[in-house]
Amino acid sequence: MDLSFSAADQAFRDDVRRFLDTALTERLRTAGRLSTSVYAEREVMREWHAALYAKGWIAPGWPVAYGGCGWSVSQRYIFSIELARASAPGLSPMGLGMCGPVLIGHGSAEQKAFYLPRILSGEDFWCQGYSEPGSGSDLASLQMRAEVDGDHFICNGQKIWTTHAQYANRIFCLVRTSREAIPQRGITFLLIDMDTPGVRVDPLIMTSGEHVQNQVFFTDVRVPMANVVGKVGDGWTVAKYLLEFERGGTAYAPDLTVRLEKIRAMAQTERAGDGLRLMDDPAFATKLAEAGSEIAALEFTEHRLMSTLSQGGSIGMMSSMLKTRGTELSQRLTELALEAIGPWASPFQPHATMPGGPVPHHKAPNDPSPIGPDHALPVMAKYLNDRAGSIYAGSNEIQRNIMAKGILGL
Ligand SMILES: Cc1cc2nc3c(=O)[nH]c(=O)nc-3n(C[C@H](O)[C@H](O)[C@H](O)COP(=O)(O)OP(=O)(O)OC[C@H]3O[C@@H](n4cnc5c(N)ncnc54)[C@H](O)[C@@H]3O)c2cc1C
Repeated sequence: MDLSFSAADQAFRDDVRRFLDTALTERLRTAGRLSTSVYAEREVMREWHAALYAKGWIAPGWPVAYGGCGWSVSQRYIFSIELARASAPGLSPMGLGMCGPVLIGHGSAEQKAFYLPRILSGEDFWCQGYSEPGSGSDLASLQMRAEVDGDHFICNGQKIWTTHAQYANRIFCLVRTSREAIPQRGITFLLIDMDTPGVRVDPLIMTSGEHVQNQVFFTDVRVPMANVVGKVGDGWTVAKYLLEFERGGTAYAPDLTVRLEKIRAMAQTERAGDGLRLMDDPAFATKLAEAGSEIAALEFTEHRLMSTLSQGGSIGMMSSMLKTRGTELSQRLTELALEAIGPWASPFQPHATMPGGPVPHHKAPNDPSPIGPDHALPVMAKYLNDRAGSIYAGSNEIQRNIMAKGILGL
């Protein structure tokens, strides 16, 4: 079995490296390196999105007809590896990775023609309105109502945990258009403009102090019926289609591999000028080695998926497996990174990092010089933010239920 990339793939990798060398400005690389979240801060995302769009590389996974790159599955994987190696900032996935693919799969010709170019250019910024208080894991119990009034719906209800709603000009929502005995029926997938009268966004602050999530309230919001994606009452089919992209659209191993290397480098540095290096502690070295082999196993699983996809197969249940392993290993790395920096985890200094959103209750000190080495700055906030990885996009317990039923037949 030959696991190396072909000569053509290696030439592609060199092309990508050449592009990243120039397109990733010092500001963008610093933002990527000091990032505390899976997303970069809004202005950084805007700048990086514009650079990728100008190059024609903003939506590698989309079909060429809609603005995709026409890359093979392995080229897309190589692109992920190179982005991780170059510390490229993370982009918001709600438009490019979720709404776009859903519109390509289920949208009308008019919806595709109108929305897709705006997602590509960055003119539209989307957020996801699925979860409600009491309807997260049990999503089908959602209550936000949409009642017909002529050729419009009147929407009332609340969404919660809505990432980036404070920036988004559009939201895709699951709404209840009828009450049926089976709750999955009577749900509709609806596109709503955030500037429609009656939409209100309230911030939710994360444990890291960052404002990335929100609650969104809808009071008598009028939405054209033309904004339904798929059929009225058939939103559950569309919602499930989207979740496959949300859970499986990410290659985890490239980013995890780069982060593991960084932790190894941190552990090889003296922490307190006493000549002691954490890497010399066999217990820590063992934990690092264990994480390394689990990441390698995940990487092989991703390669296996690449092979399935390149033969025309679909991701299916594997999205649950990758989401679960990817987020668990990510959390493990945040713990190892904390151990590696030791006391440097204590200072609260968002002004010295690149938070994923504003930190409203933080005032930079008079002397804003960072405390501790550069590599230690984002570690604590990243640890806190990463706790959410096993909750969002469907909690890992729910993924295990899906695998138990779908793969093991339990
Ligand atoms: C940082 C962050 C960002 C998010 N962004 C968005 C967003 O942009 N848009 C959006 O719509 N939503 C978003 N979410 C919401 C996310 O999808 C939900 O939090 C998630 O689905 C869990 O739902 P819940 O919070 O209601 O928890 P609950 O469903 O109340 O679950 C609580 C606990 O019980 C467990 N549990 C529940 N049911 C079962 C079961 N049947 N079997 C075993 N265990 C179970 C869960 O695993 C969890 O541990 C975000 C969440 C977070 C934390």
